[in-house]
Amino acid sequence: MTTNVGSMSTSAHPTADAIRTGGTVTDRLVDANARYAADFSDPGMDARPVLRVAVVACMDARLDLHAALGLELGDCHTIRNAGGVVTDDVIRSLTISQRALGTRSVMLVHHTGCGLESLTEDFRHELEDEVGQRPAWAVEAFRDVDQDVRQSMQRVRTSPFLLHSDDVRGFVFDVTTGLLREIDPSTDAETDPA
Ligand SMILES: [Zn+2]
Repeated sequence: MTTNVGSMSTSAHPTADAIRTGGTVTDRLVDANARYAADFSDPGMDARPVLRVAVVACMDARLDLHAALGLELGDCHTIRNAGGVVTDDVIRSLTISQRALGTRSVMLVHHTGCGLESLTEDFRHELEDEVGQRPAWAVEAFRDVDQDVRQSMQRVRTSPFLLHSDDVRGFVFDVTTGLLREIDPSTDAETDPA
């Protein structure tokens, strides 16, 4: 197998060379990193995101945030977890993002065909049965992705820790078309009896 590293001497990266012929998935990623670094030059950037935006999204493998949103290196903070759920830890990251690193807009991206739609909170009970301990966290499973985005927007907007909650918008990314659909924060939520 030939290398496309170009000017790099292969002997300078014996580890990468060794795993090129096999190894684990992580070995393969480390190998890719060696090639990435070979062409990398210090962008001289500040840690503060250029576009002053934080994107909270599901970890779904089909969602390439930078490509889908036209983002470049240094543009934004990306905060991802299963479902793109606004948990306490996401609020922690958003708080640091806004208060220490100067972001002010928040964009939430959930998506069609999310794995959380096929789970229920029974997942926690099954875990407890299996390991003898129930996790402290909620599964945050959902049935209605639009409503899930609304709930996430509401959690960001009502957090007492954030400096900026005036520009919080939520979307559903269609994994079959690549298109975002914006969610109206007020629809349906207002019809729920208090
Ligand atoms: Zn998902």
